[in-house]
Amino acid sequence: MKVPFLDLSRQYAGIKDEVEKVTAEVLQSCAYVGGSYVANFEKDMAAYLGCKHVISCANGTDALVLCLRACGIGPGDEVITTPFTFFATAEAIALVGAKPVFVDVRPDDCNIDPEKIEAAITPRCKAILPVHIFGFPAEMDKINALAQKHGLKVIEDAAQAIGSDYKGKKIGNTENLASFSFYPTKNLGAAGDAGMVTTNDDRLATILLALREHGAAKNGAKARELLTGVADEFALESADKKVDNLYNPYKYYNYLIGYNSRLDALQAAILRIKLKQLEGYTAAREKVAARYTVALRGILAVPTACAYGRACFHQYVVKTEQKEALGEFLAARGIGSGAFYPVPLHLQKAFSYLGHKKGDLPVAEKLAEQTVCLPIFPELFEEEADAVIQAIKDFFKTA
Ligand SMILES: *Cc1c(COP(=O)(O)O)cnc(C)c1O
Repeated sequence: MKVPFLDLSRQYAGIKDEVEKVTAEVLQSCAYVGGSYVANFEKDMAAYLGCKHVISCANGTDALVLCLRACGIGPGDEVITTPFTFFATAEAIALVGAKPVFVDVRPDDCNIDPEKIEAAITPRCKAILPVHIFGFPAEMDKINALAQKHGLKVIEDAAQAIGSDYKGKKIGNTENLASFSFYPTKNLGAAGDAGMVTTNDDRLATILLALREHGAAKNGAKARELLTGVADEFALESADKKVDNLYNPYKYYNYLIGYNSRLDALQAAILRIKLKQLEGYTAAREKVAARYTVALRGILAVPTACAYGRACFHQYVVKTEQKEALGEFLAARGIGSGAFYPVPLHLQKAFSYLGHKKGDLPVAEKLAEQTVCLPIFPELFEEEADAVIQAIKDFFKTA
């Protein structure tokens, strides 16, 4: 039996009518960027996560850049992060002019090892950027305590963790900043690129709103005041006057150098439909994961139980010394698999200027040689999961 690594068409089939109806509505409305579809999505998402502010944006990489800028991070600063993640995590740090400082991960959940963070903190360090990799929450209590002790900000890369919990609270319901991606293959996927930042911090939310739209208008003026401590009387007065004419000068006053990182109405409308299904999607992923774990435990290294709450199983990752051979064996049977992440970030060519060499971060390097991601998505059939299990059993000749 052929088993796809991921098949988005099955999910689309389940929501096709609703999506096509709302898509036509958005096109008719001619309000394509921002507007009520975006506002409603942000509202529903805030309710889902239980958090105060949802700032949607263009994609998950922008979400990270916006978070870093909102924390005032730039050239000369260092940000501690994990080498075992998608490239964008550290790319965003470099994009704002700061230096990524990689700290090795734990072999069990593949997340940054809190015990190794303190040794990497220098006077230039401004923030810790953990990633909830594969949907497994990082050990936030320890990371937050270290940040507090050293006066650092915490930015959580939650691109893979929508629907995960940390100690009973949804990832994203945080005083920190959390960034998310709605890239189509993520657990909540748009029909294109999309992302968001969440926080319970009013000050950071205002700055984020300003940065995502050219540091302009009322949000820009408020954000500038928060960042500089100096109020712009004209700006704040005209904000209250609500100048509505065509040539509203207020809209064209810019207070910060920001970005164009708004969310499209089409994406917001589609994401809002899928958000209603997200708990069901996550439960279905958990079921697939449980099926794999029961059958494969003892044959190869399966994911350890989530230590701090709920994992949304963005990926189901097994570890084996025979990674390449297993991947090829599965492929020969028509079974898709992935190998996230084959190159730890400190060994990426793009980061060669940091001067790392093989052996610097041995746990991440070992994981990169061992991890195989099995097909997992809400619509995967039981027979398909069983075919994957049987193939792995056959590979290891266990039964
Ligand atoms: C997907 C992803 C991103 C980037 O998100 P985009 O929407 O593709 O820009 C960042 N970090 C992690 C961990 C991701 O998985």
